[in-house]
Formats: sequence, structure tokens, C-alpha cells
Amino acid sequence: MDEEQSGRMVSGKRQEEDSTVEMSLRPRRLAEYIGQSKVKEGLSIGIQAAQARQEPLDHVLLYGPPGLGKTTLASIIAVEMGVNLRITSGPAIERQGDLVSILTNLKAGDVLFIDEIHRLNRTVEEVLYPAMEDFAVDIVLGKGPSARSMRLNLPRFTLVGATTRLALLTSPLRDRFGSVHRLDFYDQESMERIVGRSAEIFGIDIDDDGIREISARSRGTPRVANRVFKRVRDYAEVRANGSITGEVARQALDQLEVDGLGLDEVDRRILRAIIDMFDGGPVGVDTLAAATSEETDTIMDVYEPYLIQLGFLQRTPRGRVATRRGYEHLGMTVPAARSSSDIQPSFFDDPGKSEST
Ligand code: ADP
Repeated sequence: MDEEQSGRMVSGKRQEEDSTVEMSLRPRRLAEYIGQSKVKEGLSIGIQAAQARQEPLDHVLLYGPPGLGKTTLASIIAVEMGVNLRITSGPAIERQGDLVSILTNLKAGDVLFIDEIHRLNRTVEEVLYPAMEDFAVDIVLGKGPSARSMRLNLPRFTLVGATTRLALLTSPLRDRFGSVHRLDFYDQESMERIVGRSAEIFGIDIDDDGIREISARSRGTPRVANRVFKRVRDYAEVRANGSITGEVARQALDQLEVDGLGLDEVDRRILRAIIDMFDGGPVGVDTLAAATSEETDTIMDVYEPYLIQLGFLQRTPRGRVATRRGYEHLGMTVPAARSSSDIQPSFFDDPGKSEST
């Protein structure tokens, strides 16, 4: 398998092959949604309160790395509220008119999900302000001196916005959400429950060791776990008798060059570049992207958050720095000359807090 393919293997970003699997695996109700207990609790209270008042739920903003369950939560909110879900994304809405037409077609109570909401362009975003706040849009009729503006009322709806980059959201937009929830990487126990559930839905024979191995190597991301699971299942069918044991999972994942922590060749290339080419950092993310031939966005959305979570990389105001643990994971010696403050491991940084390059 070449590097590009193995790189995509562990990416939380949605890929074409995921769509059919995701349809059948996506939990439909809040009770089926595993992990993220804080988010679940917050949403559950909001949903119950809104239902008691017979009002739509307040607008919800979800943020966190791709593949953690933001779209799933939006559809769960719609199911729990007993309303329709309309799905779109920031880049798909090019003009103000596109958004006005989506908004005016909503029915009372509907959930509108806008994925990658940080990528809405500014003029389109301005339509959202009165829509979110007053449930109205202002449209301009005619051109030149005779142009006049008309206000159209909208049904009361719930906007669910999702973003991988909270810091790229403008404050007027951010302030209009009633609640903001951060999705974290899933812990090992939740990942095991997710993999166990997928195995049950697909009717695959897998032992506890197999579940443990796939969970540990899926970087705390359900989408990655489901993808890895499919590959291991193929491997088990061809190379073993179809059953997934720990040993089969290990062999399959080694063949995919995914290591025991879920890191692939691209993660290692990024870490190695910081250490070898930039003396351990700090290095700006754009420079790092150029040095590793990866896209800045992919590094920031997919690779970096997990490396930070593991404490292998740190985001500082001056750039990215490899930590002591990062050196050790690659089997490299930490240079004595480095100041200890530069190589302290850091735990999950709020991905939204610092976007500095
Ligand atoms: P995002 O919108 O954050 O990129 P999705 O909501 O599309 O992520 O989730 C990707 C897939 O991961 C879903 O299809 C679903 O199968 C699985 N998934 C996500 N969160 C959970 C969860 N809490 N429990 C079980 N499966 C989940």
C-alpha cells in the first residue's frame, strides 16, 4: 500500500467508501450514541426542555476533528425532536440566494445542518444573522435607486452548525448559537463499544482481543474505526477463516502501516520533519505542510489534533514543536541542548483556541 492510501486510511475526513457503511452504522437515537457524555447530557437537557415548552431547540454549534460524530448528532437531534433534517455545507452555499431558498423552504421546527460552517462566505453568513436571531431574512428587490428591501418571516427552526475550526468562526456567528459543544476523541472503552456494535450489525465474528486491537489503532475516531474494521474484515476473509482475532487484526493493521497507536506514515513523516528539518521546532504549519507535501488544512484537521492528544506535538505561539514523547516514539534521542520548556508534552489543546501558525 502506498503512503497516500495508508494516509487516507486513518483520516477522519469522510471518503466515498464510507457513505454506504455510515448509513447502516449511524446511531439513530441519543441513547444509542456511545461516549461524549458531556455533549449528550447537554443536548438531552436542551431537547427535553424545548419539548416541554413545545418550542424548537436553540441553535447548536458542534466542533471537533472530523469523524467524531457531528453529522450523526445533527440527525439524532432531528429524530429526537420529531422533525425533518436538511443537510448542507458551508462551501455548497455559494450565494445569498442559495441560503434564502434553503431557509424559506424549511418547515416549522426543522433542523438545518450546515457542515463546515466556517467555510461560509461572509455575504452568505450575513443572511444567517437575522435568520438565527429573528427568524427572518431581508431580501432586496430591484436594482439601483428603486431597489427596496423586504423582510420575509421564516418558520422557527434549529440551526446545527459543525466545524473543525472554532477559531475561524466570526464572533457574530458564534454568539448566535444557544449552545456550543466540543467533541473529543473517544476513549478506549467507548471505541471498543463502537467497534463491538459495528461487528454486531455486520454479523462478524470477532473476539475481545480483536476489538481491543482495532479500537486502539483507530485514533479515537469512530469513522476511522469503521473503516479499519472493514479492511480487517477483508483481511480475515482472505488470510484467515473470516474470524477476527487480535493476531489477525494486528497483522492486517501492520500491513496497512498503522502502528499500535493508530499513527500512519504521514503522522510519522510530520513528526520526523519537525525533528530532522527544523531541529524539533518551532515551525509554522505552512512551512511544515510544504516540507511534508501535505495540505495545511489536512495537517490542522486530521494529523495535528491526534498528535497533540498523544502529547507528541505541541502548538505554541511560535509554531509546532516536537515533544520528548514525540522523539521517543520515533526512537530518537532528545537533544540535551533543547530547553525543557520546549519539549514538555501537552495534552489536548482546544483546537479552536490557537490557530497561530
Ligand atoms: P463528523 O460529522 O463529525 O465528521 P459523523 O457524524 O459523520 O462524523 O460520524 C462518522 C461515523 O462514525 C458515523 O457514520 C457513525 O457510524 C460513527 N459514529 C460517530 N459517532 C458515533 C458514536 N458516538 N457511536 C457510534 N458510532 C458513531
